[in-house]
Amino acid sequence: MLRGGTVVDPSQDLNRVCDVSIRDGSVSAVGDGLPAEGRRVVDVSGRYVFPGLVDLHAHICWGFTDIGLVPDDVCPSTGVTAIVDAGSSSWPSQDAFRRHVAEPSRTRVFGFSNISSVGIPTAGTPELASLRFVDVDRSVASVAGDRDLMTGIKVRQGRHLVGDNGIEPTRLAVEAAGQLGVPVMVHVGNTPCPLKGIMDLLRPGDIITHAYHGHPHGILDDHRAIWQDVLEGRSRGILMDVGHGAGSFSFDVAKSAFEQGFFPDAISTDLYTVNVNGPVFDLPTTMSKMLNLGMPLEDIVRSTTAIPAAAIGRTELGTLRPGAAADVAVFDLEEGDFEFSDSHGERRRWPRRLTCELTLLDGEIIFDRRRADRPIFDRQPGKTTVNQGNNAP
Ligand SMILES: [Zn+2]
Repeated sequence: MLRGGTVVDPSQDLNRVCDVSIRDGSVSAVGDGLPAEGRRVVDVSGRYVFPGLVDLHAHICWGFTDIGLVPDDVCPSTGVTAIVDAGSSSWPSQDAFRRHVAEPSRTRVFGFSNISSVGIPTAGTPELASLRFVDVDRSVASVAGDRDLMTGIKVRQGRHLVGDNGIEPTRLAVEAAGQLGVPVMVHVGNTPCPLKGIMDLLRPGDIITHAYHGHPHGILDDHRAIWQDVLEGRSRGILMDVGHGAGSFSFDVAKSAFEQGFFPDAISTDLYTVNVNGPVFDLPTTMSKMLNLGMPLEDIVRSTTAIPAAAIGRTELGTLRPGAAADVAVFDLEEGDFEFSDSHGERRRWPRRLTCELTLLDGEIIFDRRRADRPIFDRQPGKTTVNQGNNAP
């Protein structure tokens, strides 16, 4: 029983002080003055209670890609209970993703299959420089056989990644995803054409990731207004995702966009080995940046719970509705003087920061900041990444 926190659950239009009652791993009730009935009671007054967070874009294929992190090393201490690998693996490596990453993880793991069979072995690998690396039929068959794990198709549409192939990779990704009835996630930034050319290929529910990058062909026109084509694409149901990453989030772009009310649909990290020790650190740090840039807290929670859960077709996650798995993230909203960096080396000092205090998965406490020096469950062996929490340098 989590007693007396401010429960923010946009899936239920809930944003008020109340209790969350848990039984047998599931949420049993949300309301005022709920009876303890023999449950362990944790006083969370003065704290925020969110559904467990869903990180829609990260890289967790550790051991067989250079960029992969170990999910259970980086998720519990940051309130993330479900994490989506964005195209590190593809059909040849999908069984490795399942057996080596997803099955041993306590954290809930999902994946987007890269339309290139190469996947993403290193951040700079041009996996779409040749279309010989694309086999739509194999991709479709592979994802169709693993729908419990694979939730979409990923394509990196950067100019240095696709060579002379233009936007053909995105067209092939949409073809595969269309056969499967799953979304496509398109990596943008330094694309071979303006965003409109890519968005014209996309369908409702498809995802533009790295939406606030500071490279050519972004969301802003020469007068720093949002392109009309981008607004129209979004009104058709294309989702705009942050995908912060080491090179894909600009404070200046986000500030201009937010001033025009253009907030992200999904807030994700694009967390991988090169940015986990800065500038990204983790999802709470990314959320704190959105908060300080002017995005309302309730929208931030929606963009890290209900929306990413729906984007991968898992609406049973990202919610504290009675009957849902008791995945819960308890946060403190700290006030002070904190420094943040974007992907372009810009620094800002801001007064607010979200810090994870407690994480529950299936009703079990898997992280408690007050006893963070002691592991709560055994970690899987292998490469260990030291997570610094969200303490920006
Ligand atoms: Zn990525």
